[in-house]
Amino acid sequence: MDDMYREVILDHYKNPRHNGELDPADISYQDDNPLCGDMIRIDLRVDKDNKIIECAFSGHGCAISQASASMLMEDIKGKTLDDIKDYTRDDILEMLGIELGPVRLKCAMLSLKVLKVGAYGVQEWVED
Ligand code: ZN
Repeated sequence: MDDMYREVILDHYKNPRHNGELDPADISYQDDNPLCGDMIRIDLRVDKDNKIIECAFSGHGCAISQASASMLMEDIKGKTLDDIKDYTRDDILEMLGIELGPVRLKCAMLSLKVLKVGAYGVQEWVED
């Protein structure tokens, strides 16, 4: 494992939060990042106000992709689907706390992409 990764990233990678699948789930979506071989699936349960009451992710791939999914799950629990619309690349980078090149950026953004496309459809996902 590279020394460049912060301890917190390794911790989320080794001990992912909200890891697993929800059955039943109100929203389920998965996608992959073929450049790196990362795969992320996200399941959400929402209440009548579209508040996220349960969330889980599963998948496999590099430390960045899995850690960002784990951090994102911790962050979105209790928020609404509307709140998710406001999440940007910068929010993910802030959670990870490291600079990423274009290839690693795809790894980091996979979980946000899956979340947004799952919640709103592909038109809400605009990749820079
Ligand atoms: Zn990756």
